[in-house]
Amino acid sequence: APFVEFQDVWLAYNEELQAQGRYAVETIDLRLRRGEFAAIVGPSGCGKSTFMKLATGLRRATRGRVLVDGQVLDGPLKISGMAFQAPSLLPWRTTLDNVLLPLEIVEPYRSEFRRRRAEYEARAIELLAAVGLRGQERNYPWQLSGGMQQRASICRALIHEPKLLLLDEPFGALDAFTREELWCILRDLWQQRRFNVILVTHDLRESVFLADTVYVMSASPGRIVLRSEIELPRP
Ligand code: ADP
Ligand code: ADP
Repeated sequence: APFVEFQDVWLAYNEELQAQGRYAVETIDLRLRRGEFAAIVGPSGCGKSTFMKLATGLRRATRGRVLVDGQVLDGPLKISGMAFQAPSLLPWRTTLDNVLLPLEIVEPYRSEFRRRRAEYEARAIELLAAVGLRGQERNYPWQLSGGMQQRASICRALIHEPKLLLLDEPFGALDAFTREELWCILRDLWQQRRFNVILVTHDLRESVFLADTVYVMSASPGRIVLRSEIELPRP
């Protein structure tokens, strides 16, 4: 069975737009395999963020339905981790405490948090080391470069081992060097653990480098117009 399934999904942002037939996305029909790394690429305004809101249950489809792990989504998805274009670390928390955040608020970790704090910290430190942030645990976000903050954000998205990682242009604001370094780190993590990833990007090169399936969206109407499995040999 697919892990994520869109069944003829349409979304109009309000009734007026719907009455005018102006849907932000329409006829979205796709099935993502368990463990698939999917990239959604397309120009600005084509509906990528809208797609992401549907996949996370932050927006309900106007028509059609979205299923994750066999369940129809009817509210915000709890099994996911997310990272966005801006790092959005909490400024009053250290890097370590930022990364620990999902373990403090997402069940079943939350109820165990106090008792297992040392174990959770060790896990966070290990993950930070994997993205080159060893020694930064006690520093605050303002002491980190933008690229380092973004790495910490990705650790925060992964710390509770979500079944689904949602990435909305998380590399967009980084310099080319940091970006390619993070691509490699993410690809290694995915190859080890095979969680599902949905990456939204307007960078075709990024999508081909990272994903095993690329979905191309067109604007007006916001549709998926191409699905392509990437079988290039990769370094
Ligand atoms: P992308 O992420 O690819 O840039 P979006 O999903 O943000 O595209 O937008 C798709 C379309 O939906 C655009 O035409 C945009 O103007 C419209 N849109 C996005 N958010 C809203 C909203 N909250 N209300 C009305 N229209 C919206
Ligand atoms: P969020 O609550 O996640 O910020 P919004 O739906 O408010 O989501 O906005 C998502 C994107 O859609 C933003 O890029 C925003 O600029 C754009 N947007 C928001 N409202 C409108 C709108 N009425 N028309 C067109 N685009 C919009």
